[in-house]
Formats: sequence, structure tokens, C-alpha cells
Amino acid sequence: MNPIAGDATRSDQAPVSATLADVEFPISPAPDAVEFWDGVERGELMLPWCGACEAPFWYPRTACPRCGDRTTDWVPSPGRGTVHAFCITHQPLVAHLRDRVPYVTALVDLDEDVRMMGLLDVAPDPSAVHVGMGVVVEFVPTATRKIPRFRPRPEGDRP
Ligand SMILES: [Zn+2]
Repeated sequence: MNPIAGDATRSDQAPVSATLADVEFPISPAPDAVEFWDGVERGELMLPWCGACEAPFWYPRTACPRCGDRTTDWVPSPGRGTVHAFCITHQPLVAHLRDRVPYVTALVDLDEDVRMMGLLDVAPDPSAVHVGMGVVVEFVPTATRKIPRFRPRPEGDRP
């Protein structure tokens, strides 16, 4: 069985999610990103927010990239957005995903107006991905820790 395609004989026609339960992701959170990864373990996509701008920013860091203010807080995001750009990887460039090609990596514009990179599960057909595709985050167990991954939003689920 192709691990990215999962069990293509499922009858419910729901997107087939590829399991990553046996993949060891080499993730060592930077000090500024510990709260983000703690949120992922809880099933929450936490974004750093600037207290002065009253807006989120990405990636996590000690000071707001817009104004330099260090009054930041963490706010959960619904994790909804649209695909800004994507790459379908056929060549296994990283060891921990060598058995999972082809896989899709996407830049996602979250509804909060921050751009985040992540895996996008469009199995069983990676070519179904397109710019502007509505996506939502999910939290996927791996052998090391949960990771955030995006999947297409159902048809009719508009922002
Ligand atoms: Zn700011």
C-alpha cells in the first residue's frame, strides 16, 4: 500500500489521511516556540500576538517584527486559511519522509493574516492541491510528537 494514499478502498469518500505515526520528526523547539509546540500537543494552533499592534505575527520570536514591542501573548487560532503556494515533493529530500513521497508542503495564509508553512494532506491525489484552496489545520501524531498539518476544507466551507 502506498503510505501517502492510505487505504484507497475506503467507502466513505472522506479524504484519506496518511498516517505519520511511525515517522520520527527531528523537531527541537526553539525557546521562543515552546508555547507553540505545547499548543500543538493539546490540539491548539497558538499564534504569538503583539500587545501593541494587537495582531499576530509568524514565526515566534521575542519581539514583534512590525513594531519591536516585546509585549507578546499567545492566542489560539482556528487554523483556517488558504493555500498561497505549494510544492509537491517526489524526491525524498529529507530522511524522515523518504517513504512518504509524494507529499505536499504549502505556504498557508491563515485568516489572521499570517503566512505559515506546513505539510498539506491532499491524499490520495496530491495533484488536487491548488493556490487558493481552503484549508484547515489538524494535529497529527508522529513517533516523536504531534505536528500541525493542513487538509482541505470541505466544499462549501468558505471563510
Ligand atoms: Zn507590534
